[in-house]
Amino acid sequence: MLTVVASENGSFGLPAAWRILQDGGSALDAVEAGARAVEDNPADHTVGYAGHPNIDGIVELDASIMDGATRRAGAVGSLQGYRHAITVARAVMERTPHVLITGSGAARLAAEFGATQENLLTEGEHAYWAAEVGGSKAGLLAQVRQFTRDPRDGAGTVDFLAIDRNGNLASAVSTSGWAFKHPGRLGDSPIIGAGNYCDNRYGAAACTGWGELAIRASTAHTAVMAMARGASPAEAAAIALRDLFELPTDGLLPLMHIVVLSPSGEHAAATTMAGARYAWQAGSMTELTVSDRLVVQP
Ligand code: ASP
Repeated sequence: MLTVVASENGSFGLPAAWRILQDGGSALDAVEAGARAVEDNPADHTVGYAGHPNIDGIVELDASIMDGATRRAGAVGSLQGYRHAITVARAVMERTPHVLITGSGAARLAAEFGATQENLLTEGEHAYWAAEVGGSKAGLLAQVRQFTRDPRDGAGTVDFLAIDRNGNLASAVSTSGWAFKHPGRLGDSPIIGAGNYCDNRYGAAACTGWGELAIRASTAHTAVMAMARGASPAEAAAIALRDLFELPTDGLLPLMHIVVLSPSGEHAAATTMAGARYAWQAGSMTELTVSDRLVVQP
């Protein structure tokens, strides 16, 4: 059954993904198109153009894409100057022998296939950065610690999972990461197994939230492997989030949201923070719907 599942901010790009599936396109094309639309959305400050900058006031993007049929994957980290990080991630997968390319190497790949270079920092985001960070005289490490106290302030990501008419699954994740992060910091979004995992045999999962935790626990992979052992998407989502509760977080909520999709189109989403929702469309539905996530708390 044709299915698209996304984080709630993916509602903006879900119609683009859905159109591709309906026209007979691949899940890979659908998730890329969904993420691209969100990367274009100037009102979304957590993804692509107009994303939150790092501590130096520079927008650095992370993204990954995975093909469930082959488990081929591509990812970019700390990409500067190109809004469509997801398309550069796909280029890593399809045009290079690699899985993850970062920084100037990622930008060089984007330039090589003709992507348009631009300044991704909008006036509004520059003003946000200047007001929060601009005057700080503290050293770099002290600044990063001071301005990234809690992932609920100024983070966010978009996730897309899809099933096409051939029954293939794909997943895409794109983000500008945690506002005021250390330059070069990678979150979970470009790390296959952490923020993104997809396998036609068992299903797909993608995360948003506190990236360092998802990296340490391989959260997306944990959810898909739970389905491999017979868990439903809702059970798999809960297992993956509960696994984070053992990690020390200095008293902070282990903020994590996950979307999960089975090969048959069953889906679920869970969160450690009540109130978070997700978007989806499937089968004969004529428009997307937004549903509550299952809340899993320590
Ligand atoms: N997971 C992203 C990161 O750690 C941020 C988020 O989704 O809120 O960069």
